[in-house]
Amino acid sequence: MTDDSGEMSAREAAEDYRRQRQRSDHGQDEFGAEVRAAFETWRATGRGQIAEMARAYAPSDQDADALADAVLADATTEGLSEIDEPFGHRIISGLVERVRAICADGGIPVREGVVVGVSPTTGLHAYQNEVMLTDVSIIDFALPFVMFCNQFAILLARTLPHVVTDDQVVVSFDPEQLSQSLEDNPERFQEWGLFLAKYAIEGWPLDLPRIDIDAERLRTRLQILFAMEFFAVAHEYGHHVLMHGVTTSSDDHGDPLAMEHDADGFARMVSMVAGTNADPANPFAASGSGAVLMLGALDLVRRTTHVLTTGNTQFPARETHPPTAERIKHVGTFDRFVPDDVRPQFAGMRRDLEAVVEAVWAALESMFLGMHHEGGVKLPAAQKGPLDWMSLC
Ligand SMILES: [Zn+2]
Repeated sequence: MTDDSGEMSAREAAEDYRRQRQRSDHGQDEFGAEVRAAFETWRATGRGQIAEMARAYAPSDQDADALADAVLADATTEGLSEIDEPFGHRIISGLVERVRAICADGGIPVREGVVVGVSPTTGLHAYQNEVMLTDVSIIDFALPFVMFCNQFAILLARTLPHVVTDDQVVVSFDPEQLSQSLEDNPERFQEWGLFLAKYAIEGWPLDLPRIDIDAERLRTRLQILFAMEFFAVAHEYGHHVLMHGVTTSSDDHGDPLAMEHDADGFARMVSMVAGTNADPANPFAASGSGAVLMLGALDLVRRTTHVLTTGNTQFPARETHPPTAERIKHVGTFDRFVPDDVRPQFAGMRRDLEAVVEAVWAALESMFLGMHHEGGVKLPAAQKGPLDWMSLC
């Protein structure tokens, strides 16, 4: 199946299989239909409601209106399953296309490509699955994933100290300053707590109150958001390119921990290209800090879930994925492809942002312990699901 028509039919078969699987995994309740109905209502009522939603993420009302117009102009259900969430799908597909283009430029074979889904479900799954008898993979993200990255980027950009001088804005990644900023600002501290607790308990975003975004923080927020999302998408695409999950016999699954490191390494390299080529350059993507923040953010949710479930802070090792600190360390080894003079800057940025994530946790841990032991929040033990395999988290 190397000619054009053959390629089409493999992708069509993969897309067909994706929809069947999505229906059986995520189409068993009314949620998908409700999400789609809400989308159609938004589209029919014009930019009003979308602009209302966009206000939480835009620095001004005019920006929110412009964002709503842009979103509406691109809004489509064409090529989607009946339950794919259109806004998230547009974002993930766009990032997949950028990863594919970087592979094409670098002469990296992408096999017969991927088909993308954004499924109406709670939680934060992101996974890649081979489609049997084709050279195509499915990449599927849970609907709240994109919102999660967005809210994390907003909160972090708002919490990191920014110093504005005459000709530039300097962002501080000093974990001590961040701890101080959380201590000085109970409102922000509470937002972080609610943000993590809501995902841990419901797998769903909180209704984030509109946070005024100072103009100098807007770039930080957008760069963090891109670097996180791009790393996540490139990680899943990496599993596809590296043919993970393609098995020759039923017991030959390879070493899952090594495959996760390899997918992270692929994502780091692709992010380095995207971050360096962006105009202006995106240091979060180029340095591998997007990986640090993406993996760190998911780890914060995992820790919150564990504390609210067990009431202790003995976080167990996982069978399917290496510990987050090891993954971050491995991502750092790809600095060998970075010019000598830039290397210390990249390493320093990753180290500081890893410490920033730890500072967020250090500020919140006792609150989550209190929620469990005194507040009566006792989550049921999680079921281990099939989505643990070849996923991001
Ligand atoms: Zn993975």
